[in-house]
Amino acid sequence: MTFFSKPSTNKPAVSSTEVQASFIDILYDHEHYLKENGGKIGQPMPGLQQKKVAIVGAGPAGLLAAYQLMQTGVEVDVFESEDQYGGRVYSYQPIESEAALFEMGAMRVPPSEKIFNFYADVFDMHPSEFPDPGKVMTDIIFDGEKYPWEANQPPPSIFTAISESWDSFVTTLDPLINLLKEGTKPSFETALKQWQLLIKSGNSENTVSYSNISFYEGLVHLFVDNYKKYGLENPWGEKEFSLFGALGLGSGGFGPLYQVNFAEIVRLIVNGLETDQRFYACGLDRLVDGFATTETGFGLVKDRIKYDCKITKIETEIRDSRREVKVEVNYRDTLAYDAVIVATTTRSMQVDMGITLPPTEDYHEPILDTDCNTGVRQLHLMNSSKLFVLTRTKFWKDKKHQNIPENIQTDGLVKGLYCLDYPDTDHGVILMSYTWGDDSTKYIAIKDPNERLNLLIDSLKPFVSDFTDILNDEVIREHTKLIDWQDQANFYGAFKLNYPGQDFYNQSLYYQFTQSRNGVYLAGDSISWSGGWIEGALQTGMNAAAAVLNQFCPESLFNDNPMTQATQADQYDYR
Ligand SMILES: Cc1cc2nc3c(=O)[nH]c(=O)nc-3n(C[C@H](O)[C@H](O)[C@H](O)COP(=O)(O)OP(=O)(O)OC[C@H]3O[C@@H](n4cnc5c(N)ncnc54)[C@H](O)[C@@H]3O)c2cc1C
Repeated sequence: MTFFSKPSTNKPAVSSTEVQASFIDILYDHEHYLKENGGKIGQPMPGLQQKKVAIVGAGPAGLLAAYQLMQTGVEVDVFESEDQYGGRVYSYQPIESEAALFEMGAMRVPPSEKIFNFYADVFDMHPSEFPDPGKVMTDIIFDGEKYPWEANQPPPSIFTAISESWDSFVTTLDPLINLLKEGTKPSFETALKQWQLLIKSGNSENTVSYSNISFYEGLVHLFVDNYKKYGLENPWGEKEFSLFGALGLGSGGFGPLYQVNFAEIVRLIVNGLETDQRFYACGLDRLVDGFATTETGFGLVKDRIKYDCKITKIETEIRDSRREVKVEVNYRDTLAYDAVIVATTTRSMQVDMGITLPPTEDYHEPILDTDCNTGVRQLHLMNSSKLFVLTRTKFWKDKKHQNIPENIQTDGLVKGLYCLDYPDTDHGVILMSYTWGDDSTKYIAIKDPNERLNLLIDSLKPFVSDFTDILNDEVIREHTKLIDWQDQANFYGAFKLNYPGQDFYNQSLYYQFTQSRNGVYLAGDSISWSGGWIEGALQTGMNAAAAVLNQFCPESLFNDNPMTQATQADQYDYR
C-alpha cells in the first residue's frame, strides 16, 4: 500500500530504535517478544508432537504460524489453493534466473513493520530507499499541466497549501506518535486515552469520531469546519479537494480512499507506516522463502505445504469430549485436526470456505460469533491493480536522456508510475500503473496486458512524450504483466480498509484468537489493524500460533506472550 509517502526532505532514514513500539490499536509489542525469546513463539513440550494443526493459506500469516508452530514440534499441514506459496507477497520473475522482479503485491516496507524487519535480518534481506515521489525526479500531471518535482525538494507549489494544512494536522499527532515510540506501560496508557478520544468522541475537544466518519468527512472537519486551527486563511474548497483526491500531496491521489473511515488513514500515520519506505532488490519473497525453507528443528515448512488444495469447508464440534476440527479439501476429502488456523483474506473465508454460513445438522456450532461473522462478511477490501513492464535498459538513468522522470504521478489512468532499479540486471523494471479503488476498476475490462499498456502510454504521451517515446523503443512486450487483485480467485480483493462504523468488527476479528474455544483461529492482514501491510499478517499469524499452543499446552508459551492481549480485547470503544 502507501498513500502519503511524503519524503522527509534531506533527512536520513529513520533508525529502527526510533520506531513505534506497537501499533496504536494493539499496544502489544510482538517483536519485543520475539527478541526476548530467541525468535520463538514457544518451546517444545511433551505431547506437542502428537498435535496436528491445519493451516489454510501459505501467505506470510500462514507461513509464519507454520514456522513458529513447527519450531515447537507441532505437526502442521499447510493447505494452499495455488501452485505456489507467498500469497500477496508475489515477486514475479519475468525472466527466469534474472534479478529483475515485478512485485505484483507488496513492494515497500517501512521500519515500523517491526516483525517484518526482525525476520528480514534473519533472512539476510538488505533494503535501500524506495523511489517514492519526490525521492527521485518526479513529474506530476494535474488538470492538463505538468509540474516537475526535483528529487528531495518540497513538492511543486500547487501542493503548498494542502501540504501545509495536512502537515499542521499531522503535527497534532506527534505527541501520540512519541508515546508509542517510548513504548512503556505508562506511555501506552496515555496513548490509549488519546487515541480513544480521536476514534470516538467523548469530549468537547473533538466533536467527531474518526472511526465513524469517512476520510472525506474528516477533511471537511479539519480544513473546512476548523480551518483556522490548522493555520489556513480560507477553508478548503473544490480545488483543494480535487487536487488532494487526484494526487494527495503529490504522492498519489486519495479520491479512491475518500469513503474509508478516517481512523484507517490516521492510524497509518500514527503507526509510522507511511514513513521512509524501503525497497528490497532481493525480492520481498525472500521473507516467505525464509519461513518455508529455514530449518525449524522439526523439518521444513515447505515440505508440509499441500499445493492446489483449496479448503472448501471447515467444521468444528466436541465429540465424545474431544475437540474435532475438520477441513474439506477441494470439495472432496475431509481431514480431522486438533486445531485450524485460517490465514486468508476475509473474502476467501466467506466465498471459498463458507465460514459465515449457519451450522449444519451434523455440526451444531457456528464457527464464529455474531460480531466476527458480520466482520468477515462486511469489512471493506480495496480494489487494486498493477501493470509492470520490462525494458531493455534502465534508460531513465542514462545521462544522454536529460530530465527523464523516474516517477510520474497523474490524475489520469496511470495514477502512479515507478522506475525500479534491480542492481544485478541491465534490464529496467517499470511499474507503469498502480491504482486503487475506482481507478483500478476503470480499466479492469481490458485484460490484455499490452492493450492496457498502450492505453496507459497514450494517456501519458501528451505530457511526457520524451519518456513515452523512449519507453516504446525499450519495452520488451512479451513480459508485460498485469494483475487486478479483486478478480483473483483465492483473494477477491487487494487489502482491507474499513468503512465508517466497521472498526468495531475489526476489533472482534483481531481478538478472535483470544476468545475462540472451538479450535478455529483466524489470521491474515484482513483481520489486522494494518490491512495492506505485511506486518498485519505477521502480527495475526503470531497471535494464532500462540492461541494454538495455548489450547494444547499453555506452559509452552513464554511470559508476556501474545495471549496476554486477551485482557485488552475491549480496551477501545469504537462504536
Ligand atoms: C496491490 C498490493 C500492494 C501491497 N503493498 C504492500 C506494501 O507495499 N507493503 C506491505 O507491507 N504490504 C503490502 N501489501 C500487503 C501484503 O501483500 C499483505 O499484507 C500480505 O500478503 C497478507 O498476507 P496474508 O498471509 O494475510 O494473506 P495472503 O498473502 O493473501 O495469503 C493468503 C494465502 O491463502 C491462500 N488461500 C486463499 N483461500 C484459500 C483456500 N480456501 N484454501 C487454501 N488456500 C487459500 C491464497 O492463495 C494465499 O496464498 C500489498 C498488497 C497488495 C494486494
